[in-house]
Amino acid sequence: MIRISRRTLLQITGFGAACVAMVPRIAFAARNSLLSLRTGVQPGGRTRLVIETESRPSYSLSYPENQLVVTVSNMPANSGIKPTLASGTLIKNVSQVQSGDRLQIVADLRKPIAEIQKSQIMILEPNGDNGYRLVLDFMAGTSAATVAASASVNAGETKTSSSRKYTIVIDAGHGGKDPGCIGKGGTKEKTVVLSVAKKLKTKLDADGFKTYLTRSDDIYLKLADRAAIGEKRHADLFISLHANANPSRTMKGFSVYTLSEKASDEEAQKLAETENAADKIDVNGFEQFSKDIRIALSSLQQHAVAEMSEEYATACVRAFRRAGIDQQPGANVRHAPFAVLRSSVPSALIELGHLSNAGEEKLLKSDAHQTKLVNAIVRSIKNYDFDV
Ligand SMILES: [Zn+2]
Repeated sequence: MIRISRRTLLQITGFGAACVAMVPRIAFAARNSLLSLRTGVQPGGRTRLVIETESRPSYSLSYPENQLVVTVSNMPANSGIKPTLASGTLIKNVSQVQSGDRLQIVADLRKPIAEIQKSQIMILEPNGDNGYRLVLDFMAGTSAATVAASASVNAGETKTSSSRKYTIVIDAGHGGKDPGCIGKGGTKEKTVVLSVAKKLKTKLDADGFKTYLTRSDDIYLKLADRAAIGEKRHADLFISLHANANPSRTMKGFSVYTLSEKASDEEAQKLAETENAADKIDVNGFEQFSKDIRIALSSLQQHAVAEMSEEYATACVRAFRRAGIDQQPGANVRHAPFAVLRSSVPSALIELGHLSNAGEEKLLKSDAHQTKLVNAIVRSIKNYDFDV
């Protein structure tokens, strides 16, 4: 079985640590070395393969018949490393095959597997006893994509190696009896965000994404039902669109949030209270969610989802800034317990701007500015690396 130190366990189970700093993916020129190979069984009967390396591994996956091959760049074979194989896994044997300056870790499988999803792969940072650990979880089963499937950490390669359509669920906040916030000029949040959501869907569809709206009309939907649509559609990304209000009418700018048990600041806490209010969900009622989700997901997956959400949110902020859209002062990406983000799908909530600010209310209503917002979101999605 896989040995995980207590410290690592804390690192990967703390959902509060959702706000993990993203480590840039750098292709290290320095030679990597293999430290250990192990397999284990995870709850739900999933097989885990752990490849421990000296430096952050740059890797790609391939799926020849009855094998899973993890190719790590710039690493020599190490005959001194014998794999520790747990019983009851899908892996019969693990061997090392040198291929130029790359090392292929070849796992012989008892049964075929489908392409391993991004949410099932993670790289753990080194701690006391361990180096970097590339962790892959998978189950038996095939899909049409299996044979030719190949995922890679290099963003440039993923686009060509995977022709799968990514699924985006777009959630226009509020609706029906719940108008959201209302500007001084009478502009309703529910109307602005629905308009932006529809424009976003049209653009993403044209770009080859598979998209779903949680609502396409002025209807009221519970927050949990919105999140459930993301799950049901097996979304790769869930984006919830909102507009903000602030007691200070001079406050303006967009902000991007990811889910966290604890709000990053008082303002984020207040905002989550406001956004959750329609369903009378207590911001502090996170416990039940945590319990439900923890049953459904391994801590590893939770961590992966949080990391991916953070990564998308960061890409989103960057795209908005590049488009010259005003950002609300404060943290780059913020965190708060938004009910609508509570799922196993990587997700972010975008406050597109402040309806409480007269200038921004005018902008948010305008077709030109809505298009500008949509283009920035499309850009952020294109820059997001879905495959790892
Ligand atoms: Zn809202």
